[in-house]
Amino acid sequence: MSRGRIVIGNWKMNPGSSAEAVVLARSVAASPLATGVAVAVAPPALFLPAVAEALRASPVGVYAQDVHWEEQGAFTGQIAASMLAPVVLGVIVGHSEVRRDQGDDDERVAKKMVRALAHGLWTVVCVGETLDAYLAGRSASVVAAQTAVIGHAVAAAESVGARRDRIVFAYEPIWAIGTGRAATAAHATICADAIRAELQRSAGIDAEAIPVLYGGSVTAANASAFADARGIDGALVGGASLKAEFGAIVAAFSG
Ligand code: PEP
Repeated sequence: MSRGRIVIGNWKMNPGSSAEAVVLARSVAASPLATGVAVAVAPPALFLPAVAEALRASPVGVYAQDVHWEEQGAFTGQIAASMLAPVVLGVIVGHSEVRRDQGDDDERVAKKMVRALAHGLWTVVCVGETLDAYLAGRSASVVAAQTAVIGHAVAAAESVGARRDRIVFAYEPIWAIGTGRAATAAHATICADAIRAELQRSAGIDAEAIPVLYGGSVTAANASAFADARGIDGALVGGASLKAEFGAIVAAFSG
């Protein structure tokens, strides 16, 4: 089955100003055209309109880094999917830094996904195990348990039905994020298999159609190993997406 390839740069709380974000976005758009791979950047929320405007004429998509699960209301500091939808192509939910800092659990991540899909946003759902779980050999079971909650939400939410084709998973082992210690491609494949098997079971969907990205210390040096790995359809890139090497990472995944 052929799935689309996707490489997304997660800029996190960088760069320091809207003007710098626009410059960075333009540099991504100016990189040689990648064939067979969708490229996107996820700037801080405040910079989304400026970056979206800078990329309007380019094929580079714009994603938000998070979204609230409710439609509207008394949720100080939050951004609704309906507010994002006119500006961005998609959204990341369940990033481990958001889980850590905002207390998101799998149920909340599932609710965010359902809301984002209901607004037609491509939705990247992040799952990944802690270092302890990895060392204990429990990576696959942890990501399967996280995926089960998402899968049940997919099965339960009628609004998701029409938008299942916009679900993307990102396997992001927490111990690999920002540490310079990437997982092996073989390990990423095992976890991608676990995600798809669980989605098939709990959501009853054709999980072979769901793209699974790898994220965690992806660099220009290791990108081709993940690009060649069975079951891995792209990358969610943090630190390296702020540098010129992002272009080389995209190139590694292009066909
Ligand atoms: C991320 O934050 O999604 C990520 C993968 O970060 P890094 O590439 O810096 O490990």
